[in-house]
Amino acid sequence: MGYELTKETIVQDALDMGFTHAGLVDVTTLEAREEVRDMCAVDKCHGYDRNWSCPPGCGTIPECNERMHSYDWGIITQVTLDMEDAMDMEAWGEAGKQLHDGQVRLNEELHKKYKDVLALGGAGCNLCAKCTYPDEPCRFPEKRMSGMEAYGLVVSEACMKNGLKYYYGPDTVTFSGMFLVKENS
Ligand code: SF4
Repeated sequence: MGYELTKETIVQDALDMGFTHAGLVDVTTLEAREEVRDMCAVDKCHGYDRNWSCPPGCGTIPECNERMHSYDWGIITQVTLDMEDAMDMEAWGEAGKQLHDGQVRLNEELHKKYKDVLALGGAGCNLCAKCTYPDEPCRFPEKRMSGMEAYGLVVSEACMKNGLKYYYGPDTVTFSGMFLVKENS
């Protein structure tokens, strides 16, 4: 199936690819916050200062803000699955996997059409067995995805400011990602 991947078609393209929800992003609504960065520094996910996709390698909060605002438009992509109950870790894991797989696929498609695409997913990059950070440049900058939180975003705020829910009701789990696109790149 071919995808146009224009600002006008991208939401339907994403739904056709299997995301359960998608919505356009007005980049002026995106706000990188220091307090989110502070949560990364606690290093629960063991990426902080170890990977180009994570802080501080992905840039300071002012740099992340400036970068996000330099794009022309974007899209939030989501995968929502039903859970049997609040402890249904299988559904949780499956939703995360489906979002990641969809993000990888859409990232590849977008990079065929646009040179400058910022891909943000649900977690940092684990493409290489050992990241080159901080001694050598990233091996795969076009494939690399940062977590939305790594860019200082409050995911629920980014969703709500762009007309998407963050929570789809009891016994559901939702993972969200985002792409920002420079139109004439
Ligand atoms: S692609 Fe490799 S070098 Fe680049 S951020 Fe990911 S793990 Fe690190």
